[in-house]
Amino acid sequence: MFETLTNITNKKTIMKPIIEIPKELLTTRNAKTIKGEKFGWSTYILYMTPAKNNDKGVNLCPFASAGCLKSCLVGSGRGSMSNVEKGRRKRANYFVYALPMFLEQLTAEITLIRMKHKMDKSKFTVRLNGTSDIPYENIIVKDNKNIFELFPDVIFYDYTKNPNRFKKKLPKNYSLVFSRSETNHDKAIELLKQGVNVAMVFDKIPTKYEGFPVINGDESDLRFLDKKGSVIGLKYKSLTGKNVNNKYAFETGFVIRTAA
Ligand code: SF4
Repeated sequence: MFETLTNITNKKTIMKPIIEIPKELLTTRNAKTIKGEKFGWSTYILYMTPAKNNDKGVNLCPFASAGCLKSCLVGSGRGSMSNVEKGRRKRANYFVYALPMFLEQLTAEITLIRMKHKMDKSKFTVRLNGTSDIPYENIIVKDNKNIFELFPDVIFYDYTKNPNRFKKKLPKNYSLVFSRSETNHDKAIELLKQGVNVAMVFDKIPTKYEGFPVINGDESDLRFLDKKGSVIGLKYKSLTGKNVNNKYAFETGFVIRTAA
């Protein structure tokens, strides 16, 4: 199943797999999930290294802008810790090199999570694109069904920069929010007019933007609860780490300035 490489050391042949199988794909211990817990929801998020940051160079964020790439969450908070980044890259490699196994593990994890919450009588939600932009609705997992169809009683949500994902009807149990960047502003307004919710990054979150109501997206990440046709306002979070230039997000127009 795995691609292998051969190291010859002291005349012994060692078969070393290129990819490592992550212990878990879905995690539920970070700032975003804690916010949801305050509202009675457990959130399980799948984080990978974004864009081409995998060993195969497959672009997992084909619509990323220069500004969002720079500002992506991987560069802030827990993401700047190298062991977190290693874990994310492991999942990205698993996805690009061994998709059938990846999907099998994802299915098994969601099955267990669903069982746990059924027993607890508690609510949960799943976000598959924590730091990637993969159209899971187009990936058949088994029995000719995608992951949303396999779990019709599970609530999924995501953000995307891919406008093409709104061209066809999305599964009922999947709430998808379009993410505005400096390169897709007109598209964002067009989708808002069609009733799609759009996330925008501001220096200061307004109550209205271009006539559309703004929901404070920093209060929780439970996007499936939002009223349709709303702007999801997110406050720009300064990046931390070496060689970080926070001015870049403002200079590119990725962050919308509303503060006086
Ligand atoms: S598309 Fe999303 S996940 Fe990908 S780099 Fe941009 S912000 Fe990050």
